[in-house]
Amino acid sequence: MRVTKVFQYFSGNAWHEPTGGEYFDSENPATGQVWARLPDCREADINRAVAAAKSAFYDGPWSHMLAAERGRILRRIGDVISAHADRLGAVELMDNGRVPNIASGLKPGGWQVDSCHYYAGLCDKFEGKIIPAEMPDMHNYMTWEPFGVVALILPWNSPIGTLIWKLTACLAAGNTVVIKPSEQASASTFELMDILLEADLPPGVVNVVTGFGQTTGEPLICHPDVRMVSFTGGTTAGAKVAALAAQQVKPVIMELGGKSPQIVMPDADLDLAVNGIVAGIFPAGGQSCISGSRLLVHRSIIDAFTERLVMAAKKARVGAPDDPMTQIGPMANQQHYNRVLAAIAAGEKAGHKLLLDGRTACREQGYYIGPTIFADVPNDSELSQNEVFGPVVSTEAWNDEEEVIQKANNSIYGLAGGIWSQDVAFAMRMANRIEAGTIYINNYFNASAQSPVGGWKQSGYGRENGLEGMRCFMQTRSVWLSLNPNQPDPFA
Ligand code: NDP
Repeated sequence: MRVTKVFQYFSGNAWHEPTGGEYFDSENPATGQVWARLPDCREADINRAVAAAKSAFYDGPWSHMLAAERGRILRRIGDVISAHADRLGAVELMDNGRVPNIASGLKPGGWQVDSCHYYAGLCDKFEGKIIPAEMPDMHNYMTWEPFGVVALILPWNSPIGTLIWKLTACLAAGNTVVIKPSEQASASTFELMDILLEADLPPGVVNVVTGFGQTTGEPLICHPDVRMVSFTGGTTAGAKVAALAAQQVKPVIMELGGKSPQIVMPDADLDLAVNGIVAGIFPAGGQSCISGSRLLVHRSIIDAFTERLVMAAKKARVGAPDDPMTQIGPMANQQHYNRVLAAIAAGEKAGHKLLLDGRTACREQGYYIGPTIFADVPNDSELSQNEVFGPVVSTEAWNDEEEVIQKANNSIYGLAGGIWSQDVAFAMRMANRIEAGTIYINNYFNASAQSPVGGWKQSGYGRENGLEGMRCFMQTRSVWLSLNPNQPDPFA
């Protein structure tokens, strides 16, 4: 395939060539062919983008604007995104191959548009408070304030979805932003900027630089005018980003990886559980942070459960993302494809029982891997402990409640957990004991603009979505007003 698109970077509502004149390639994972070139932004480009964001915050209209007016602009952003849902979806499909296509979330009623509209409505409802400071003649009140310029650093697995969640809360709070998407999937972020030009967003409020973690991400995080960092990505890179930000004592939000357990009780409705578990990992090719990839199944039903699981997973149609019959697209890039293949090979070498081998879906061109199921995988094995971020699940049997909780929580991660049971009391006891930021009972993978998501343990801190998601992009100011005209002399 020939290169069809060369992007420039976006700053001050205008497109710019990278100062160094360097570009890097973007591949279509369905074919392995280069289809676009993206600017490799370095220090001068980052300085320009941060300066535009700083000016929009301090001199420009954004932070001075009435919150209700910011809300009107956010609502328009939601509207123009849904008007161009198919266009955005087509670019993201070309860039990271994800199925189901993001376009569905960008249409009215979809997750991402809901997020724009939810925060549009919340903008002017964020109230401060009067604090009863228990001091005579003293009035104390607290307000919520934005940070200023915020860096948003994004992964490749769901670029537009992840971006919209961050962006809407961050803008609603009154901040301006510089975005650095993953160099593996940046094209849809630029396409979104082109669309945002129709939403009358003032220049400099949103800026995008593309490039690599070390040469674009790090100078952005360390730029003295960047006041806060919101990062979604792997735990290793997240720890590095947090350490860099700490050098200038910048607050960070960390949305990191996971290895989420799903507990299947003996009384579970097995059809419901199997369908929910399959839907909770395989359609996105496992390339989702909350994928429930560790299946902890009661010993009394594990054989029946596993048989149904394999049958259900076998039915999935792996194929080209633009084929409407496809249910699982390719891995998003070659590097990741090789990582997932290596994890499957390592699981096999470690002696785990391979019940379904997704490598049979591999093709000469493109990065295809089908559902893969390992059985009897011990809790402390590499396969149980490490995030594969691919269509790979493992099963393990348990006998009693204490054992299953110990296994579920035996992880450095704490992003999500699932429970499949018809016993409400048991399910709620488990929900109270699993160490994770999101728990699903008899469903998996749901999210909404109103409900906060985020991790415990090494899955991160800070929240996205809901009131908490907006609060994370704000800081408080406490104002003390003396009603007493006399200040006694402290040294009298
Ligand atoms: P990475 O952690 O490799 O990268 C994430 C982003 O950080 C990319 O833009 C990357 O740039 C950038 N980056 C990497 N190193 C640095 C650095 N030193 N300084 C500044 N920026 C840096 O994650 P992936 O893109 O591989 O995404 C997959 C991971 O994301 C998985 O672990 C997954 O669990 C997690 N994730 C978490 C979610 C959540 O909400 N908890 C949601 C989605 C994904 P570059 O591409 O150039 O390396």
